[in-house]
This record gives sequence, structure tokens and C-alpha cells, in this order.
Amino acid sequence: MSTRLLDELKTNLAELDARALRRVRRSLESPCGPYARVDGRDMLAFCSNDYLGLAADPAIAQALQRGVERWGAGSGASHLVSGHYTIHDELEARLAAFVGCERALYFSTGFMANTGVVPALVGRGDAIFADRLNHASLVDGALLSRADLHRYPHADLAALERSLSGSTAKRKLIVTDSVFSMDGDVAPLADLLELAERHDAWLMVDDAHGFGVLGPHGRGALAEAGLDSWRLIYIGTLGKAAGVSGAFAAGNSEVVEWLMQTARPYIFTTGAPPALAEGLMASLDRIERGDDLRTQLDTLIRVLRDELRLERWQLMNSRTPIQPVVIGDNAEAVAVARALWDEGIWVPAIRPPTVPNGTARLRVSLSAAHTVADVERLAAALRRLEAAR
Ligand SMILES: *Cc1c(COP(=O)(O)O)cnc(C)c1O
Repeated sequence: MSTRLLDELKTNLAELDARALRRVRRSLESPCGPYARVDGRDMLAFCSNDYLGLAADPAIAQALQRGVERWGAGSGASHLVSGHYTIHDELEARLAAFVGCERALYFSTGFMANTGVVPALVGRGDAIFADRLNHASLVDGALLSRADLHRYPHADLAALERSLSGSTAKRKLIVTDSVFSMDGDVAPLADLLELAERHDAWLMVDDAHGFGVLGPHGRGALAEAGLDSWRLIYIGTLGKAAGVSGAFAAGNSEVVEWLMQTARPYIFTTGAPPALAEGLMASLDRIERGDDLRTQLDTLIRVLRDELRLERWQLMNSRTPIQPVVIGDNAEAVAVARALWDEGIWVPAIRPPTVPNGTARLRVSLSAAHTVADVERLAAALRRLEAAR
């Protein structure tokens, strides 16, 4: 019997090796946090999206535990059948109020929210205008929708405007990350809303890295920019700064009702365990009174940017906890990550296709659980490695 199909995969895997693109998983032996036990070693980690250090927060873990006692393990069905619980209603009401929208719909993951919301808003004959650096889930949502996909150069408003003007599509949707996950910069949201208004388009903002971090009390990127419109669809994710799991879409109540009626990754999946919602309520409590955590993050960002004076490598221009150091070459980025690893510092090397060719980078992400000394240690190691190469 022919093994052609399998042989082809083996060749493809070998190609990944040859191009230094094969990814490896590391298995942690400790809870999420800056000090991780990995492969029997104690590492100082700058890898997670746990920006506020809530993933291992005892009060949140206890709320989750109480949730399990109250609700058991699973939801038993999809939300529209019998897998939707009063705690989900409470969570959605609270999330909507927190980000300043009329209504919110809780999804099991951000990937599902994005692949559900985009096709719910546009379809064949419509057009999507997407920042080229948008998250993969937004790209996949666009492909699933079958609408025409126009990708504009990163944050290039003039190119977007030309593209919008040239479109005769019936319905238009502009889609953007708020904080770009591999660059750390923030989209020009006010300008994007203005364009959406001028061209009668929806504007969908994926605030996966802004929720809990940006804006007053961590209410996110729209609150920070002071934007409010029925055209806006806000996506917050709850596995990053919120430290738990899940996501939500928020906006005008009719829009959210439509999402509930039509978003397939909402309808055709088992509801997330209600216990998670209990954990998320506790997480929202902490986020809301978390100015201490956000102040600490700001301090760490400032310390890193002050201390990391690089010559050839480039610290990208970012005011968020995502502080990427562009190395350029894939193999060199991997080698630097490896050298850091060898001295007990864990920073992921991000390579194409996640980032454009020639921009392989170390994606440093900071957490309020880091100390200034942790960040100083990282900066010193990077300076030393750059000088030695
Ligand atoms: C992580 C991420 C998602 C996916 O969210 P999950 O809840 O992890 O599935 C979506 N968009 C962006 C920009 C992200 O960074």
C-alpha cells in the first residue's frame, strides 16, 4: 500500500527543521507565573499573556473551586439547548457594563469568538478590511465568511481609506487588533471609527491584549480611546490578563442578539463549564480594583525600555506589556532565545509565518507579577548577548 500521504508529511516536517521553523512545546511543572519550573529547571519567564499575574491568583482559584462545588464540572450542552446557566448571565451583564457596551455574549475562546463574529456580520458579496498584522483567528473568520478580504498594510489609514472608497460591497467590515500581539503597538482606533462612519462600515476591535490592561480600571482599548458607537463590536478575551479562559463579544444589544442567533462557534459547541464563570467574576473584581497591578506593569515597561539600550537588535516601539526585540534572522533569534534559556531566562523566539520574513524576534511579555530586578536581569542578559554576537 502506498505511504505517499505520510511520506509527504515527513518531508514537510523535515523542511521545518531545515528552516529552523519547527516549534517545540515545553511542559511546565509549576503554575503560570514569572518563576516557572520547566524541564527540571527554575526559569525566569517572560512568555505568558498573564499580564496582571492573575492566572495563579489564589482568590480567583478559590472562586473557581467554589464554582465547581456549586455547578459541578461541565455544562452538559450548548448554550442554546441547556448548557447556559444563570452565572453566565451574570458574567455577561458584568462584562458588558465593564467595557461600556449594551450587551455581551460569552464564548468559550477568543478564537471561537472571532471565527464566529466575522461570518455573522458579513458574507458572500460583502467586504472585510483587515490590518495585515491581525491575529490568525480574525483571518480565519474572514475566510470562513466568504466575504472579499482586503488586507491593508499595518495601521496604514490612507491605504485603508483607498480600499474602502474603491469597494462597491453591500456591507463592509473593518477588523483590527487593538494591541498587536507580536508588536505591542496600539491601533489608531478613533481614526478607524471615523473611517467606519464615513464609509458606513462595521468596526470590530479585538482587544485580546488590551482588556484588563488598557483604559481606566482596565476597561480596555475602547474605554481608553473614549469610543462608543453601535458600529463597534468589541472582542475581549479572558485567558490573558483575566487569567482564566474564554472570551466575549460586546456591543449594541441587537447586534449581540444577532451574534447569539447566528455565530456558529457559539451555537454548535458545548457551553463552557459554569465554574469558569465564577472564576471570571472574581477575576473581574480584581481587574476592577487592579490599578496597583497596572501601575506595576507601567513601571516594569519603563524600566525595560530605559535599560535595554541595544545596538543592532531593535526594541519595538510599544507602550504595552508586549515588548518585542527584533533580531531579524530566524536562526539567530532561536540562538539568542537558546542562550537566554541556558542562563535561566525564558523568552520565546517568534518566527515566520507568525511574523513577517526577516523580522524574527524575541517576544518579551511583562507581567505585574515580575519585579524590577527580574526585568533588570533580562535587560542585562540581552545587552551582554548582543555584545557577544
Ligand atoms: C490570543 C488571541 C486570540 C484568541 O483568544 P483565545 O481566547 O486564546 O482563543 C484572539 N485574538 C488575539 C489578538 C489574540 O492575541
